[in-house]
Parts: sequence; structure tokens; C-alpha cells
Amino acid sequence: MFENITASEIAGYAVGALMLSATISAPKMDSFIASSQRSSMGMCKRCGDLKLIACSRCKGSGLIKEGGLFSLVPVVDQNPSRDGKSKSRSSCCSNCLAKGHFACPECSKIPSSQA
Ligand SMILES: [Zn+2]
Ligand SMILES: [Zn+2]
Repeated sequence: MFENITASEIAGYAVGALMLSATISAPKMDSFIASSQRSSMGMCKRCGDLKLIACSRCKGSGLIKEGGLFSLVPVVDQNPSRDGKSKSRSSCCSNCLAKGHFACPECSKIPSSQA
């Protein structure tokens, strides 16, 4: 019964199916490649392959809020700031240079094979 379908119809279906599958499979392929890359690389233990480590001092915000927040956040280690010159209530985190994160030292050690 397939003899009734013309070649142009078949081509049309084929192209349609191809485009559809390409559209659907594009993000899947992306995640598939990413996951396979991760497994082959063994996934960084320190950053979980994010290549970034959140600053533990400012909790990734890049700012250290002095006062006001201590009632909400349980203070585990009350390290006195080494430089007591900061008088503003929220100062830039000197630990991460107000970025809130570091480049993962473990990942930056690996020479990037992919451009
Ligand atoms: Zn910080
Ligand atoms: Zn890492």
C-alpha cells in the first residue's frame, strides 16, 4: 500500500521527520555530550564540574553584611575580620574579591583540551 505514496511525499515526510528529530534531539544531544564528558572527566570533586567554588565567607553573595544578618544566619565560626578598617555595614568580601566565587583550582589545573 506504500506504492501509492509519491516520491515527493516521501521526501516531504523525510525532511519533516528529520527537522523534527533534529529540533527535539538537539538539547538532548547537548546534555548527552555534557554528561558523557563529565563522566569521562570524572567530575570534579571540589566544584562538581561547575568550575566555580562558592565563597564560604560571603556565601556566594560577594558581600559581607555586618550586623543585622547574624540573627538570621547561624554563625558557625566568628572570625574577627583581619582588617578592622571596614566601617560600612556591607563590605565587599575580601576573600573572593566580591565575586562570590572562585575559579576551581582543581579544574584550572587541567589543561583545557577543548577550545
Ligand atoms: Zn566571598
Ligand atoms: Zn573543579
